[in-house]
Amino acid sequence: MFRVVIVGAAGRMGRRLVANVLDAADCELAGATEIVGSPFLGSDAGELAGCGHCGVAVGDDLAAAVKNADVVINFSTGGVIEATRTATSAGCAAVIGTTALEDGEKRQLRQMADQGARIVFAPNMSVGVNLLFHLCREVAGILGEDYDIEVIEMHHNQKKDAPSGTAVRLAEVICEAHDWEYDEVVRNGRAGLVGARTRNEIGMHALRGGDVVGDHTVIFATGGERLELTHKASSRDTFARGALRAARFLMTAEAGLYDMQDVLNLRERK
Ligand code: NAD
Repeated sequence: MFRVVIVGAAGRMGRRLVANVLDAADCELAGATEIVGSPFLGSDAGELAGCGHCGVAVGDDLAAAVKNADVVINFSTGGVIEATRTATSAGCAAVIGTTALEDGEKRQLRQMADQGARIVFAPNMSVGVNLLFHLCREVAGILGEDYDIEVIEMHHNQKKDAPSGTAVRLAEVICEAHDWEYDEVVRNGRAGLVGARTRNEIGMHALRGGDVVGDHTVIFATGGERLELTHKASSRDTFARGALRAARFLMTAEAGLYDMQDVLNLRERK
């Protein structure tokens, strides 16, 4: 039985994480935190998640919460590096799902791992999406550079960052397959007189609307045909279940910075 703290417990993902932890047979909810000043401080985390009273109140003191925990799962939209430092310096593993971390912040995660922390960081924790990363790498390698590649993502109208972390990762995977530099080839949207499409570019398009949980399509188009690979998430539970799988993986992992390719053992199948 491992003990889990959820950071950002009142958020859309935080509530599904709490619900999935309460539902799982092999873990228990040891704590739930929110940002200082949140109107949800003091609320019962289970009630917020729609699962009934669980006896864990949402607090703002992560350092106190981690004393009683094995792993911290963090899909919050702020203070991720500080929270990860608090968790890992207390000996907890950390699962981070927050997207839009800066390069400098990712470097700090790497440094923490080099100093002995166990961390899974993945912009998308769904099993299907991680297979999509794997398939895109394969398909890009097989089709070669004769195919124009475009990435389209759609998310709900409250999403703050664009393009999604998953769309960025899809483009990164394709860049790795083609030996391209991300910053040189990715075109975020197109507007105005941009001229004909160049050969080595990846178009990125972010759609926002309604309550869409997360759709991603990668299009490979050439004269006479196009191949489209699509993943659609219909519930946030897919990410929450993936995060719990990552937490289980960390319970026996060595120190390191991992992603879902490691958790799902897809890296060796490259
Ligand atoms: P949300 O706005 O509904 O929830 C974020 C929560 O974090 C809020 O309750 C906010 O108060 C809390 N928060 C902000 N700063 C905090 C701090 N310093 N300490 C504690 N709590 C803090 O957002 P969401 O839709 O739940 O998404 C959250 C993040 O997860 C986003 O970055 C999103 O892109 C990402 N996400 C990742 C995956 C994945 O599989 N990796 C899936 C879905 C969403």
